[in-house]
Amino acid sequence: MDRYKLIARTAGVKRILAGHPWVFHDDLVSPPVEGDGDVVPLVDGKGQFLGRGFYNAKSRIAFRLITREDRPVDGAFWKDKLMAALHYREGLGLKSNARRLAFSEADGLPGLVVDDYNGSLALQILTKGMETIREPLIDILQEALDPQAMVCRNDAPVRVLEGLEAKKEVIAGTLPPGVEVIEGDLLFVVDLLEGQKTGAYLDQRENRLFLRPLAAGRKVLDAFCYDGWFALHMAKGGASAVVAMDSSEPALGRLEVNAARNKIKGVEPRKENCFNALKAMARSDERFDLIVLDPPPFARRKADVRNALNAYREINRRAIQCLNPGGLLFTCCCSHGVSQDLFAGAVAGAAAGARRRLVLLEHRMQAPDHPVLFNEPESLYLKAMLFRCD
Ligand code: SAH
Repeated sequence: MDRYKLIARTAGVKRILAGHPWVFHDDLVSPPVEGDGDVVPLVDGKGQFLGRGFYNAKSRIAFRLITREDRPVDGAFWKDKLMAALHYREGLGLKSNARRLAFSEADGLPGLVVDDYNGSLALQILTKGMETIREPLIDILQEALDPQAMVCRNDAPVRVLEGLEAKKEVIAGTLPPGVEVIEGDLLFVVDLLEGQKTGAYLDQRENRLFLRPLAAGRKVLDAFCYDGWFALHMAKGGASAVVAMDSSEPALGRLEVNAARNKIKGVEPRKENCFNALKAMARSDERFDLIVLDPPPFARRKADVRNALNAYREINRRAIQCLNPGGLLFTCCCSHGVSQDLFAGAVAGAAAGARRRLVLLEHRMQAPDHPVLFNEPESLYLKAMLFRCD
């Protein structure tokens, strides 16, 4: 028996019936002050069952839907969900042994991210509800995958919004000092504990492989390059030269390790704040034939959207100014709060500001192991466009 039920106000009911998996705290009738992490039923004002989900009074997102069916959410339920997520990845034919096995709401696992790096797992537990069932989840993963090591990367800032502490730790097995993964025909060394996110940006895999043949004979700038995954693919794809810029010293260090491991020469790492560097470059006479622009998220919250759009316009304008006529721009936006339309508007503004003509060649998105729950627009977080710039 359920100990209590949550009652959704009209706005909350509408949201759930529209297919979105969240109800905000303000959209609940007299939400209890305790019970964080409980799995509870949600009903409308007439007592009609809407679904079962995680409750957390400390979070603005107080209810996260787990199932619309009136069925128990127990160990067997979670095992089914995780196995379905694993099974889906097996059918994708990814050109890599690094993949996201579970992606939160899109896999019906609100707040759980599991990345597999060649047999070593990096977990992110981002909601109080998932934290509460952490041990059984770990047991299921252990049994299903027998990983070499498991790491909890619970240092994501969103944990604080859920009232959880930030912490990273090895929770099982022995973590190799650098986990080696393959993407296409390149080898990358990943630091699951100290790298950004869970160690790498797997969401750009297909975009890197897509762009690679376009680099042949071109002078490439990889701006916000992290460990150089785009840069090295571009070099391998026959770029005439590659400049790779990032502000992170450890990331550039790993880029050099990765370049050496693949015997790739001709990638020039530059430790720069890309905002300043792009501005200075636009004023200099250094020009490129292909620019990858993959900045960090500028807007995690709605309140940041305006500033984020200004930042996108600014860096895209500078990048466009640094392109030779006929050059290619691959521009990305991973801000959850910035929709495809808003991002496109910012890039159009950038082209107008630079007095250049952009021709859209391709719309792209996050990798298929990072699926999108279509009625939760925020989960289409990685928007990318390829342009020719005349
Ligand atoms: N393109 C990469 C992922 C980039 S993630 C890949 O495919 O793997 C964004 C990167 O931007 C991070 O490496 C971060 O260190 C860097 N970064 C954040 N702010 C920056 C700034 N102002 N200037 C330069 N780099 C920055």
